[in-house]
Amino acid sequence: MTINLNNVDFYFDKRKVLSDVSLDITSESTGFLGPNGSGKTTLLKIFSGLLKIKHGEIDVNNKGIKKYSSNDLAKLFAFVSQDYEPTFGFSVEEVIEMGRYPYLNKFGFMNIDDKKVIDKIIELLSLNSLRKIHTDELSSGEKQKVRFARALVQEPKYILLDEPTSNLDLSNKILILDVIKDIISFGTTLIITSHDLNFIKQSTKQCFMISDGVIQNSGKTKDILNHSNIEKLYKLDSLPDWVL
Ligand code: ADP
Repeated sequence: MTINLNNVDFYFDKRKVLSDVSLDITSESTGFLGPNGSGKTTLLKIFSGLLKIKHGEIDVNNKGIKKYSSNDLAKLFAFVSQDYEPTFGFSVEEVIEMGRYPYLNKFGFMNIDDKKVIDKIIELLSLNSLRKIHTDELSSGEKQKVRFARALVQEPKYILLDEPTSNLDLSNKILILDVIKDIISFGTTLIITSHDLNFIKQSTKQCFMISDGVIQNSGKTKDILNHSNIEKLYKLDSLPDWVL
């Protein structure tokens, strides 16, 4: 499972937000670390085909991204956003079922296999007791678990997690780390953006540091996540010991 970017530039209107990005994602768990506005979310949206590039090349599993249909891309990638999404009074179960849409027949019905996948993921994330609850009534950690579940029932090859720990308290962060380990054990590749250095350290093997749309550093997370690289990334004179 690989994603390769070659010389990718990306613009919002005329503003360049990614500059000459070339990278190879080869690990089962990859992190993107960088200040706010550095281009992390934009990259995730480009990987999944939600944003189309005009400059540069992207290959997913050695095939140009443009050769995939939108349904192929929905089976390959699930994007878990940090943004608030209105769920219009749907129950937990209904929101999770929405993740199966790339697999439904032309009448939009689920079959027994779809239901089995949904049950398995609900069990994995311990969401059984919340199945019939309206998602508006959930805590932020529970909402995050529901978004994960919806992504997992999509059975994607890649799960793209945008700031998965924002708004989570410690117990939910620990739970999400456990879920991430389960996801990897399923053979799903994870790509995570975060400002949370410790979370990136715990949850990823490969890391890219990005600032102002430029990749500053890359390598094994355990090798590059050190004080000197973090100081450069965040343009700090010195990093207090407690940060990492
Ligand atoms: P990060 O995820 O690292 O915080 P983003 O990828 O969200 O950064 O944003 C990169 C830059 O692109 C920022 O300057 C942001 O303001 C800008 N940007 C993001 N989305 C849009 C959009 N839809 N329209 C215009 N500018 C955008």
